[in-house]
Amino acid sequence: MPSQHQTAIVTGASRGIGRAIALKAAAAGYHICVNYARNEAAAADVVAAIERAGGHARAVQADVSREADILRLFEAADRELPPLGALINNAGIVAPPARVDQMDHARLERMFTTNITGPFLCAREAVKRLSTKYGGAGGVIVNLSSVAAKLGSANEYVDYAASKAAIDTLTKGLAMEVAEEGIRVNAVRPGVIRTEIHASGGQPDRVDRVKAMVPMRRGGEAEEVADVVLWLMSPQSSYVTGSLIDVSGGR
Ligand code: NAP
Repeated sequence: MPSQHQTAIVTGASRGIGRAIALKAAAAGYHICVNYARNEAAAADVVAAIERAGGHARAVQADVSREADILRLFEAADRELPPLGALINNAGIVAPPARVDQMDHARLERMFTTNITGPFLCAREAVKRLSTKYGGAGGVIVNLSSVAAKLGSANEYVDYAASKAAIDTLTKGLAMEVAEEGIRVNAVRPGVIRTEIHASGGQPDRVDRVKAMVPMRRGGEAEEVADVVLWLMSPQSSYVTGSLIDVSGGR
């Protein structure tokens, strides 16, 4: 497992899949930078849970749709935690169901700035710290995509699906750029997972509605996604880069 002296930045770690990744990565030996946007109390709760279990973490507020916040996030991690070993690009949003012919510019801008530009800029900052080309010791980047990237999410949120397709392409292209610089870049594509993201998009019952379309006939749990992310962070996946791994019950 990782060195006892490496940090993992997990964006959007105050709840859901990011929280599960933060807890498991801390148990695996990483120091954790718990990023959040608004919910300071939830982020503090994640830090407390990590520290109760004998781990080490700091919470840092930063909105990944703002470049200045991303710079501040990485600078805080540089200052307050051991050297970076992993970036988990997890923060992401959905919007209420709408057809493309109903989507306005403000919705699209918010979606793409948060779900695409944010992960690109976080990846840029991580590469500057991890790449052997910049004097770094190497590391891993794991991006949270979605099976929506291949399904298209018609009549629900094609904007979100397209943002995740961009994450798939970022994963492929960046993995090739930094393959010789000690950095592995992979993506996990969850299916329908039981978290608050569905309520945040105005569909609190979405998992139960969609699960009939899942071959395994159930929604997934955040921990089931986190386990795959942890494998991608570990030396057990040392020859895996540029890969997109579906965690979707067969969907
Ligand atoms: P979630 O429960 O809605 O949690 C989202 C997390 O991201 C929260 O910690 C939130 O922080 C943070 N966040 C939101 N906007 C942010 C911003 N602008 N800057 C920084 N942090 C921000 O989401 P989730 O279901 O765990 O999803 C995590 C990732 O998995 C997302 O990329 C999502 O697209 C992907 N995914 C999820 C599913 C699913 O079914 N759940 C399926 C496929 C893919 P605050 O609480 O502070 O706002």
